[in-house]
Amino acid sequence: METNKKKNTKKAVKIEKVFCAGGEDGDGHPKVYLSMGEKEKSISCPYCGNIFTKFS
Ligand SMILES: [Zn+2]
Repeated sequence: METNKKKNTKKAVKIEKVFCAGGEDGDGHPKVYLSMGEKEKSISCPYCGNIFTKFS
């Protein structure tokens, strides 16, 4: 059984534009802005794999 190093944190957001800076202790990265398209319901951070889900 393989261990997945990446912890995919799921976060619910209200807006399409979010930013991610890691968030876990010692596991951060430069702050990046992520924007979802209108049709997209979620977006994942290319740095840390956090998943942001839009709710309405
Ligand atoms: Zn991130």
